[in-house]
Amino acid sequence: MNPLELLLEVQKHDTHADQIRHRQANLPERAALDAREAERTKAEREHRATSDRRDELLVEQDRLEGEIAKAKERIAAVDGKLYGGATSNPRELQALQDEVASLGRRVSLLEDSEIEVMEQLEPLDKVSETQQAALDELATVIDRLGVELTAAEAELGVDLESVEKQRAEAAEAVPSNLLDEYEHIRSRSGGIGVAALIGGQCGGCHLKLPAMELDRIKKLPPDGIVHCDECGRLLVH
Ligand SMILES: [Zn+2]
Repeated sequence: MNPLELLLEVQKHDTHADQIRHRQANLPERAALDAREAERTKAEREHRATSDRRDELLVEQDRLEGEIAKAKERIAAVDGKLYGGATSNPRELQALQDEVASLGRRVSLLEDSEIEVMEQLEPLDKVSETQQAALDELATVIDRLGVELTAAEAELGVDLESVEKQRAEAAEAVPSNLLDEYEHIRSRSGGIGVAALIGGQCGGCHLKLPAMELDRIKKLPPDGIVHCDECGRLLVH
Protein backbone atom coordinates (compact mmCIF):
# COMPACT_ATOMS: atom_id res chain seq x y z
CA MET A 1 0.00 0.00 0.00
CA ASN A 2 1.24 3.47 -0.80
CA PRO A 3 1.18 6.16 1.96
CA LEU A 4 -2.17 7.55 0.73
CA GLU A 5 -3.79 4.12 0.90
CA LEU A 6 -2.30 3.63 4.38
CA LEU A 7 -3.78 6.99 5.34
CA LEU A 8 -7.18 5.81 4.12
CA GLU A 9 -6.85 2.94 6.63
CA VAL A 10 -6.14 5.47 9.37
CA GLN A 11 -9.20 7.42 8.25
CA LYS A 12 -11.32 4.28 8.48
CA HIS A 13 -10.28 3.79 12.12
CA ASP A 14 -10.70 7.50 12.92
CA THR A 15 -14.22 7.47 11.48
CA HIS A 16 -15.03 4.36 13.48
CA ALA A 17 -13.65 5.99 16.65
CA ASP A 18 -15.69 9.14 15.94
CA GLN A 19 -18.83 7.00 15.63
CA ILE A 20 -18.11 5.36 18.97
CA ARG A 21 -17.51 8.77 20.60
CA HIS A 22 -20.77 10.00 19.11
CA ARG A 23 -22.57 7.00 20.58
CA GLN A 24 -20.86 7.62 23.93
CA ALA A 25 -22.13 11.20 23.90
CA ASN A 26 -25.66 10.18 22.90
CA LEU A 27 -26.34 7.06 24.92
CA PRO A 28 -30.10 6.43 25.24
CA GLU A 29 -29.39 5.22 28.80
CA ARG A 30 -28.14 8.71 29.66
CA ALA A 31 -31.20 10.38 28.12
CA ALA A 32 -33.47 8.01 30.06
CA LEU A 33 -31.56 8.69 33.26
CA ASP A 34 -31.70 12.48 32.74
CA ALA A 35 -35.45 12.29 32.14
CA ARG A 36 -36.01 10.24 35.30
CA GLU A 37 -33.83 12.55 37.36
CA ALA A 38 -35.82 15.56 36.15
CA GLU A 39 -38.96 13.67 37.11
CA ARG A 40 -37.50 13.01 40.55
CA THR A 41 -36.62 16.69 41.08
CA LYS A 42 -40.22 17.62 40.30
CA ALA A 43 -41.64 14.85 42.51
CA GLU A 44 -39.36 15.87 45.38
CA ARG A 45 -40.56 19.47 45.07
CA GLU A 46 -44.21 18.33 45.18
CA HIS A 47 -43.54 16.09 48.15
CA ARG A 48 -41.83 18.97 49.97
CA ALA A 49 -44.82 21.23 49.22
CA THR A 50 -47.17 18.64 50.75
CA SER A 51 -44.94 18.33 53.77
CA ASP A 52 -44.74 22.15 54.17
CA ARG A 53 -48.52 22.44 53.90
CA ARG A 54 -48.91 19.69 56.50
CA ASP A 55 -46.50 21.48 58.86
CA GLU A 56 -48.44 24.73 58.44
CA LEU A 57 -51.68 22.98 59.33
CA LEU A 58 -50.12 21.30 62.37
CA VAL A 59 -48.91 24.70 63.61
CA GLU A 60 -52.42 26.07 63.07
CA GLN A 61 -53.93 23.09 64.91
CA ASP A 62 -51.54 23.69 67.83
CA ARG A 63 -52.47 27.35 67.91
CA LEU A 64 -56.20 26.56 67.94
CA GLU A 65 -55.75 23.97 70.70
CA GLY A 66 -53.86 26.55 72.75
CA GLU A 67 -56.67 29.08 72.24
CA ILE A 68 -59.30 26.49 73.17
CA ALA A 69 -57.41 25.51 76.34
CA LYS A 70 -57.05 29.18 77.33
CA ALA A 71 -60.77 29.86 76.79
CA LYS A 72 -61.72 26.76 78.77
CA GLU A 73 -59.43 27.84 81.64
CA ARG A 74 -61.12 31.20 81.58
CA ILE A 75 -64.56 29.55 81.65
CA ALA A 76 -63.50 27.49 84.68
CA ALA A 77 -62.24 30.63 86.42
CA VAL A 78 -65.44 32.55 85.71
CA ASP A 79 -67.55 29.55 86.75
CA GLY A 80 -65.58 29.50 90.01
CA LYS A 81 -66.50 33.12 90.64
CA LEU A 82 -70.08 32.53 89.56
CA TYR A 83 -70.72 29.53 91.83
CA GLY A 84 -68.12 30.24 94.50
CA GLY A 85 -70.23 32.88 96.12
CA ALA A 86 -67.72 35.63 95.35
CA THR A 87 -70.55 37.99 94.52
CA SER A 88 -74.29 38.18 94.96
CA ASN A 89 -74.74 41.37 92.97
CA PRO A 90 -77.25 40.43 90.23
CA ARG A 91 -75.58 42.72 87.65
CA GLU A 92 -72.18 41.21 88.33
CA LEU A 93 -73.65 37.70 88.21
CA GLN A 94 -75.30 38.50 84.88
CA ALA A 95 -72.02 39.86 83.52
CA LEU A 96 -70.22 36.67 84.58
CA GLN A 97 -72.93 34.51 82.96
CA ASP A 98 -72.64 36.57 79.75
CA GLU A 99 -68.89 36.06 79.76
CA VAL A 100 -69.26 32.28 80.17
CA ALA A 101 -71.78 32.21 77.31
CA SER A 102 -69.50 34.31 75.10
CA LEU A 103 -66.47 32.13 75.92
CA GLY A 104 -68.56 29.04 75.19
CA ARG A 105 -69.41 30.40 71.72
CA ARG A 106 -65.73 31.18 71.17
CA VAL A 107 -64.70 27.62 72.12
CA SER A 108 -67.30 26.23 69.75
CA LEU A 109 -66.02 28.39 66.89
CA LEU A 110 -62.41 27.44 67.65
CA GLU A 111 -63.34 23.75 67.73
CA ASP A 112 -65.08 24.09 64.36
CA SER A 113 -61.89 25.65 62.98
CA GLU A 114 -59.84 22.83 64.43
CA ILE A 115 -62.07 20.23 62.77
CA GLU A 116 -61.62 22.04 59.45
CA VAL A 117 -57.83 21.94 59.92
CA MET A 118 -57.96 18.23 60.76
CA GLU A 119 -60.10 17.56 57.71
CA GLN A 120 -57.44 19.25 55.57
CA LEU A 121 -54.68 17.30 57.30
CA GLU A 122 -56.21 13.89 56.80
CA PRO A 123 -55.90 13.59 52.98
CA LEU A 124 -52.43 15.18 53.09
CA ASP A 125 -51.06 12.20 54.98
CA LYS A 126 -52.34 9.93 52.23
CA VAL A 127 -50.95 12.25 49.51
CA SER A 128 -47.59 12.39 51.22
CA GLU A 129 -47.50 8.60 51.48
CA THR A 130 -48.33 8.18 47.77
CA GLN A 131 -45.69 10.75 46.81
CA GLN A 132 -43.09 9.00 48.95
CA ALA A 133 -43.93 5.64 47.35
CA ALA A 134 -43.52 7.17 43.88
CA LEU A 135 -40.17 8.65 44.95
CA ASP A 136 -38.99 5.27 46.22
CA GLU A 137 -39.98 3.66 42.94
CA LEU A 138 -38.16 6.38 40.98
CA ALA A 139 -35.05 5.86 43.09
CA THR A 140 -35.07 2.16 42.15
CA VAL A 141 -35.47 2.97 38.44
CA ILE A 142 -32.71 5.60 38.61
CA ASP A 143 -30.35 3.16 40.30
CA ARG A 144 -31.02 0.57 37.60
CA LEU A 145 -30.53 3.10 34.78
CA GLY A 146 -27.29 4.22 36.42
CA VAL A 147 -26.00 0.66 36.34
CA GLU A 148 -27.10 0.27 32.69
CA LEU A 149 -25.42 3.54 31.73
CA THR A 150 -22.16 2.53 33.40
CA ALA A 151 -22.25 -0.82 31.58
CA ALA A 152 -22.96 0.82 28.19
CA GLU A 153 -20.17 3.34 28.76
CA ALA A 154 -17.75 0.59 29.72
CA GLU A 155 -18.64 -1.45 26.65
CA LEU A 156 -18.09 1.49 24.31
CA GLY A 157 -14.92 2.37 26.19
CA VAL A 158 -13.51 -1.08 25.41
CA ASP A 159 -14.52 -0.73 21.72
CA LEU A 160 -12.93 2.69 21.50
CA GLU A 161 -9.71 1.52 23.08
CA SER A 162 -9.44 -1.31 20.57
CA VAL A 163 -10.11 0.99 17.59
CA GLU A 164 -7.61 3.56 18.89
CA LYS A 165 -5.00 0.81 19.14
CA GLN A 166 -5.66 -0.28 15.54
CA ARG A 167 -5.53 3.34 14.44
CA ALA A 168 -2.17 3.88 16.16
CA GLU A 169 -0.77 0.78 14.45
CA ALA A 170 -2.03 1.92 11.03
CA ALA A 171 -0.68 5.44 11.58
CA GLU A 172 2.83 4.16 12.30
CA ALA A 173 3.30 3.29 8.63
CA VAL A 174 2.29 6.76 7.37
CA PRO A 175 5.01 9.40 6.90
CA SER A 176 4.64 11.92 9.70
CA ASN A 177 4.32 15.04 7.52
CA LEU A 178 1.49 13.39 5.57
CA LEU A 179 -0.18 12.33 8.83
CA ASP A 180 0.08 15.90 10.17
CA GLU A 181 -1.48 17.28 7.02
CA TYR A 182 -4.27 14.70 7.19
CA GLU A 183 -5.02 15.58 10.81
CA HIS A 184 -5.07 19.27 10.01
CA ILE A 185 -7.54 18.78 7.14
CA ARG A 186 -9.61 16.34 9.18
CA SER A 187 -9.97 18.82 12.03
CA ARG A 188 -11.52 21.45 9.78
CA SER A 189 -13.42 19.16 7.39
CA GLY A 190 -15.93 17.33 9.55
CA GLY A 191 -13.61 14.52 10.51
CA ILE A 192 -12.71 13.44 6.96
CA GLY A 193 -9.14 14.27 5.93
CA VAL A 194 -8.64 11.81 3.09
CA ALA A 195 -11.03 10.26 0.60
CA ALA A 196 -10.91 7.98 -2.38
CA LEU A 197 -11.27 9.37 -5.88
CA ILE A 198 -13.86 7.14 -7.50
CA GLY A 199 -15.21 7.61 -11.01
CA GLY A 200 -13.75 11.10 -11.09
CA GLN A 201 -15.68 12.02 -7.94
CA CYS A 202 -14.18 13.09 -4.59
CA GLY A 203 -15.33 10.66 -1.87
CA GLY A 204 -15.24 13.52 0.65
CA CYS A 205 -17.43 16.21 -0.90
CA HIS A 206 -18.91 14.07 -3.70
CA LEU A 207 -18.18 16.64 -6.36
CA LYS A 208 -16.83 15.68 -9.75
CA LEU A 209 -13.33 16.91 -10.46
CA PRO A 210 -12.72 18.91 -13.67
CA ALA A 211 -11.59 16.78 -16.63
CA MET A 212 -8.28 18.61 -16.89
CA GLU A 213 -7.52 17.96 -13.23
CA LEU A 214 -8.42 14.27 -13.67
CA ASP A 215 -6.10 14.15 -16.63
CA ARG A 216 -3.28 15.65 -14.58
CA ILE A 217 -3.89 13.18 -11.73
CA LYS A 218 -3.83 10.22 -14.13
CA LYS A 219 -0.28 11.10 -15.07
CA LEU A 220 0.91 11.20 -11.44
CA PRO A 221 2.42 8.19 -9.67
CA PRO A 222 -0.10 6.55 -7.24
CA ASP A 223 1.66 8.06 -4.23
CA GLY A 224 1.59 11.58 -5.72
CA ILE A 225 -0.14 13.94 -3.28
CA VAL A 226 -3.44 15.25 -4.66
CA HIS A 227 -6.03 17.49 -3.01
CA CYS A 228 -9.65 17.90 -4.02
CA ASP A 229 -10.07 21.33 -5.62
CA GLU A 230 -13.42 21.80 -3.88
CA CYS A 231 -12.93 20.58 -0.32
CA GLY A 232 -9.14 20.42 -0.01
CA ARG A 233 -9.13 16.84 1.21
CA LEU A 234 -6.33 14.45 0.29
CA LEU A 235 -7.36 12.09 -2.48
CA VAL A 236 -6.39 8.47 -2.93
CA HIS A 237 -6.23 7.97 -6.68
ZN1 LIG B 1 -13.76 17.04 -2.28
